[in-house]
Amino acid sequence: MNAPGRPASAPLAVLMYHAIEPAGADSDADPHYTVSPGAFDAQLDAFAALGRAPRSVRDLMADAAAGRTGPPAVAITFDDGHASNGAAAEQLAARGASADFFVNPSQVGLRHRLSWPELRAMATAGMSIQSHGHTHDHLDGMTEAEVADSLRRSKDAIEDGLGTPVTLFAPPGGRLHPALARLAASTGYRALCTSRTGTWTPGRGDAAVPRLAVLASSDLERVRRWAQADPLLIARARLRGSALDAMKWLLGNGTYERLRGAALGRRG
Ligand SMILES: [Zn+2]
Repeated sequence: MNAPGRPASAPLAVLMYHAIEPAGADSDADPHYTVSPGAFDAQLDAFAALGRAPRSVRDLMADAAAGRTGPPAVAITFDDGHASNGAAAEQLAARGASADFFVNPSQVGLRHRLSWPELRAMATAGMSIQSHGHTHDHLDGMTEAEVADSLRRSKDAIEDGLGTPVTLFAPPGGRLHPALARLAASTGYRALCTSRTGTWTPGRGDAAVPRLAVLASSDLERVRRWAQADPLLIARARLRGSALDAMKWLLGNGTYERLRGAALGRRG
């Protein structure tokens, strides 16, 4: 519920991107999750035409906490810290927009990944740099102590490296651990950005922020309607997400990833 005296905010869409690069680019990005720079730019044009400002979850949470109401927004997030996200951040900054970038500190500076100086420049340009775990290992295969270690080490590394607070956590692969919400809260995270489908209402204090994955196959009209938090379309996406979750559960993660990889012509 909203705190007394605060304006109620409307539900909005939180979009989840990965790499932004041309199809066939020489990198290790999963083509299923890769959006071309042209498609991304067209999506940003569509949001502008709708009067929806692209904002980071971090900034929207801060506005809601301060009782500030901004223009209608669409929240933008990126997972994995792919090197191509530097140019995407420039596209956003040129439009006066911001986004959250969830990175794995153990991979920062590796081939095809953003470096610390690049992340620092992005933070200076107003981007929100947050945690995607210390490594990209899925939390559902970890002990509680390992989950706690990933939450703490990644937060410390980003805060030490950039000097900006880390308050959001996106679990790698969207995989959850039963102790995650409790451990994240006790480590100082304010919310989890998940891969569950749905809309998010800033200021309601929800511990989980659902997100909508923008894929190579997501056409402009669908992304445009998501950005408007179109309830019918999001309900349909949620049904599809539940079916995928059920499949992961039935098959087990390893088999699910191998099958998906095989379907995409990649190794698991
Ligand atoms: Zn990831």
